[in-house]
Amino acid sequence: MSISADKLRDISFLQGGGEMGRLIRSKDWNRTPLGDVSGWPQSLRTTLSIILRSKFPMFLFWGPDLICFYNDAYRPSLGNEGKHPAILGVKGVEAWAEIWHIIKPLIDQVMNEGEATWSEDQFIPIYRNGTIEKVYWTFSYSPVIDESGKVAGVFVTCMETTSKVLTQAEQSASRKLLEEAEKKFRNLVINAPVPTAVFKGENMVIELANDEVLKLWKKDSSVIGKPILQAIPEMLGQPFFAIMQEVYRTGNPWEGKRVPAFVEKNGIIKEGYYNLLYKALYNNDNVITGIICMGYEVTDQVLHEQQKDDFIKMASHELKTPVTTVKGYIQLLLAKYADTNDPVLAGSLAVIEKQISKLGKLLTDLLDVNKIETGRFLLKKEMFLVETLINDIVDDFRITATHIIEVGCCPGIYIYADKDRITQVLLNLLANAIKYSPNSDKVIIKTKQEGENVIITVQDFGIGIAPREHENIFDRFYRVHAEGEKTFPGFGIGLFIVKEIVELHDGKVWVESETGVGSSFHVMLPAV
Ligand code: ADP
Repeated sequence: MSISADKLRDISFLQGGGEMGRLIRSKDWNRTPLGDVSGWPQSLRTTLSIILRSKFPMFLFWGPDLICFYNDAYRPSLGNEGKHPAILGVKGVEAWAEIWHIIKPLIDQVMNEGEATWSEDQFIPIYRNGTIEKVYWTFSYSPVIDESGKVAGVFVTCMETTSKVLTQAEQSASRKLLEEAEKKFRNLVINAPVPTAVFKGENMVIELANDEVLKLWKKDSSVIGKPILQAIPEMLGQPFFAIMQEVYRTGNPWEGKRVPAFVEKNGIIKEGYYNLLYKALYNNDNVITGIICMGYEVTDQVLHEQQKDDFIKMASHELKTPVTTVKGYIQLLLAKYADTNDPVLAGSLAVIEKQISKLGKLLTDLLDVNKIETGRFLLKKEMFLVETLINDIVDDFRITATHIIEVGCCPGIYIYADKDRITQVLLNLLANAIKYSPNSDKVIIKTKQEGENVIITVQDFGIGIAPREHENIFDRFYRVHAEGEKTFPGFGIGLFIVKEIVELHDGKVWVESETGVGSSFHVMLPAV
């Protein structure tokens, strides 16, 4: 069908209007209140020719019925399966029923007062993509004046800002979360029951310091914001600043127990002892920004222990000679009265020998503890077969032991170690296994090779040890005091010595145990 020259002239303002221009051209406008295109006023034609050729999203409400027009740039805002193209040429109230209560007052304002409006990032949900979508818009409504000088339409320029608004909302939500987390962290530091401080940057600027740490430093809050060496000059010449920088640089935490440090007390620099923990702090990008330090003073405890150690050392040294002398005389008397028929004499000598041996062992242990503490515990290493050592120990043990000792050794495993000290370890473990299993009669000692190591296990079926005690029992002078349990004689140093000896051999010792079931002590040593 050919279009007449008049008709062509009539619709020339729609040329170059893209998809929307084509749709307007092909629509039967006689079925709408606007009537045929030929009757449209020039003001509408001019406005439409601007709208259709613009690359900026634009919309037009025209006439008393607010008939809808829009351009190609506006089209994406209507989504798929939504209003496009159905709302072209439709009355505003029908096209935008779901938001008419929001936009009608704006349209009225423009129509009645002839003034333009401006709304930024306004929330106006619309129906598109098969649902009501939550959409934000920045838009301006402005009047279009017709030939009679009256406002005949409302010209809408708009831009959807949903993604910008959502990004901003996300950013501000995560900022808020971050602020809340920081606030929580600050409160945690400030209210921590132990001295705690937070340092920022390489120079360790004091960012947070709770009252406890200020008390410990003997400073007031004026130190906050200053680099540590400036705030606490006593730190100069002490190792802490370097340790803090190392933690800051590597991210490896540092923990120190009974660390000596000099702090100012009443104008005098005094030595004290502290348990300290330094840990790196990271930002969201996993970059170290500072460190947190926690610590508390243990000076009284350390001095008390030192006094106790000094006393034990002195007492054991003083007792060593008389005990050795008594032991010698007992051996002499035992030899002399070996064939005696006097049961009182024989029994007394046996009891004295047993008790003096116990005392001798205790003194040796105490002197060993002292050697460990003072770094004088030296090893004399040699190469030997584990199974031979175990068999020798067990043979000696069997003579006096009240329990059956089962041996299960993996043959041919050599270790390079101090034979006497490893003997001491196994004797301690066997003695404990027997002592702490009064109601069973069996102890097992076995070995197995695991990779480059040998694991020696001493197993009993005795009273067992509660899991919470598993680590403590290797501490010096630590003894388990389980309620309702009969007390066993002891001093709490056997396992401490075991652990020290094993660790000096680059090995490891640990326990698996259950109360009432029994215990397995495992010693891992490097095999040759
Ligand atoms: P001691 O036996 O002289 O008290 P140890 O250092 O040898 O000291 O042991 C520490 C503690 O560990 C003991 O007091 C005891 O409570 C517990 N313990 C050690 N070995 C065993 C074991 N085989 N079974 C149960 N408890 C044990």
